[in-house]
Amino acid sequence: MTKDDKLEAGKVWLVGAGPGDPDLLTIKAARLIAHADALVFDHLVSEGIMDLARPDARRIYAGKEASNHTLPQQSINNLLVDLAREGLSVIRLKGGDPFIFGRGGEELETLAASGTPFEVVPGITAATGCAAYSGFPLTHRDHAQAVTFVTGHLKDGTVNLDWPALARPGQTVVFYMGLGAAGEIAHQMINHGLSSLTPAAVVCNGTSPTQRTLLATLGTLAERIAETRIKPPALIVVGSVVNLHAKLNWFEQK
Ligand code: SAH
Repeated sequence: MTKDDKLEAGKVWLVGAGPGDPDLLTIKAARLIAHADALVFDHLVSEGIMDLARPDARRIYAGKEASNHTLPQQSINNLLVDLAREGLSVIRLKGGDPFIFGRGGEELETLAASGTPFEVVPGITAATGCAAYSGFPLTHRDHAQAVTFVTGHLKDGTVNLDWPALARPGQTVVFYMGLGAAGEIAHQMINHGLSSLTPAAVVCNGTSPTQRTLLATLGTLAERIAETRIKPPALIVVGSVVNLHAKLNWFEQK
């Protein structure tokens, strides 16, 4: 699309808003946001990004802080269909990438079932955004030959993950939504064979001016989180790549 194009009526764009810094939007996302009739957005979408919308655009907050869902998922799914049926061009804006722990798939299934046309625009996910702005690569020939993105969100108090696979050496493991489960995560990683001295980091508010990186080890992770009272949104990154932060940090003021 070009800058002056009008968006198609009755269509939904599922758009990744990136991890925080508005400059990390794709050009496509920025153009769509600037033209949409209605925007349905989550709490992780930064204000600077919403400022790009038309002054007369309808803005609907769909919420979603952990366990405090402002709109239940089914209502969000139905809302998107209803707005499109009103003949609006609708942007569904999600933090990071809509297909990484974003429930984007569920929303699209409802759109598809209702015959509503849609497109998907990828975004920079928190893991790659935080790694770049915190100064550690997620893979590195000397440290990690693989990277795994995994959810640390607890259902029924246990983290039901493939711990033997996650505790294998030579990789970087990034836990989304893991702050509340940091103690359990560290305990399981150590129990499944990693040294308690394995480097671990927490990056909170990644890519925003308030970004903060906390360095720890698996052994000290939970304690460090408790004493610094770091708050979500935050990622936990486990693996020796985080040691490179000391040398490669270019963004955070120390
Ligand atoms: N779709 C999003 C992830 C949504 S799940 C993406 O691709 O990034 C929400 C989790 O993402 C948070 O609990 C946190 O773990 C992580 N997250 C999102 N934005 C973040 C940020 N700016 N800094 C650190 N972690 C972030």
